[in-house]
Order: sequence, then C-alpha cells, then structure tokens
Amino acid sequence: MRVLVVEDHRALAANICDYLEGRGFTVDFAADGLTGLHLAATFSFDALVLDLGLPGIDGLDIVRLLRKRATEGTPILLLTARDTLDEKLEGFAAGADDYLVKPFALKELEARLRALGRRGRHRSILRTGDLVFDRERVVVERNGRRIDLPPIGLRLLELFMTSPGRVLGREDLEHGLWGDEPPTSDALRTHIHVLRTAVDRPFDKPLLHTVRGVGWVLEKDRDVPA
Ligand code: CA
Repeated sequence: MRVLVVEDHRALAANICDYLEGRGFTVDFAADGLTGLHLAATFSFDALVLDLGLPGIDGLDIVRLLRKRATEGTPILLLTARDTLDEKLEGFAAGADDYLVKPFALKELEARLRALGRRGRHRSILRTGDLVFDRERVVVERNGRRIDLPPIGLRLLELFMTSPGRVLGREDLEHGLWGDEPPTSDALRTHIHVLRTAVDRPFDKPLLHTVRGVGWVLEKDRDVPA
C-alpha cells in the first residue's frame, strides 16, 4: 500500500513512517497542510493519514478540498487529539473515512489502513479513453488489446491515469517514481518512451502527449497544435 502521512509533529511522524515502512507500506510524508495537499492532489495513494491540527491549511480543510476535487476518493484517516463527538462528526461530514484519537497504537493504525485499502479497491480501475488499467489484477488493455509493461511503466501509467488531463512535469514524475532519490541519468525519458511505444504506437490516436518545455499529459482528446 502507498500511504501519505501529513503530520507536523516530527517525532510522531517519524514513528508512523518508520513503523509503516517496516510493515511493507510505501510512505510519503508532509509536515504541513499545503505540502500535504499538493502531494495528495498530484500523486495517487491507497490511503491518507491526516493530522487535524496542522500549520497553514488544517486537516479538515484538506479533507474538504480533496473531496471537492473528488478526483478519486482516496480513503482518509484523521489523526487528532480531539475526541469530542462533534469533532468526529465534523470530520466524517467533511468526507473522512476513519478516525484515530492520539495517543494510539501503531498496530491499530496499520489495521485500519489495511481495512481502508480493502474498501478502496473498487476504485482500482482507471480509464482514459479506450485505455483501461485494472490495478488490482495489474492488467492494462487498450481497445480490448492487452498491453504489457514493466513495473516502472505501470507506475508511470498510474501517475498519468490518476491525473487525467493534467500536465505532469519532470519533477512530478520523478518524485512519483523514485521519491526523493531520482536517478542521476535521464532515466525518465527512457521510461516515457517505453510507455508511449506500448500504449500509443499500435493505435491510431495518441493518448500520451508531450507539452514542450513543460511535461507530458495523458488525455483522450487533446488538440495538437499544427
Ligand atoms: Ca498537529
């Protein structure tokens, strides 16, 4: 599971990230609301762990903003020191899926995240035009024809398909593929080429477009300048 943790308490955040990584999760981390919102809106996660009390944009506002975009409906678990009924209800009303009151056992956080991940699986099918990516079965098809991709190609395709119509720059994609340690070589260009060859070459209409000087976008009906 890929999880985004947004928590401004550094020691707690480090505990959560270390624990989840030790349990086989892939974890991204943000220490403030704005960074968290940017990561949540840019990349795809199986679940979000959101602290309610954050500097800048607080957790509830992030939930509301993400739910308004409703791009995918990633499950959200709120962390809070508040435990009154009203605040719980406010969290759920904003669109959160689960709730943990601090202090909590990391084991319980893990169990709840796995449950949320299972619930989120019906959202596992991504579509752009006639291109379909079933993430649970790990099957990619275009116009009914099976497309084989290496693992990194699948991840790259997932980044594009969870941000349909959005131009993704080099930094977005490198972060999505390799986190904070991108390779020094221009590996990204090679992976884009492999993806494009697999997804577009056998078909009439290209889906993956280059936007010169900006990045790439996966889109069904993009006007290509003459
Ligand atoms: Ca806090």
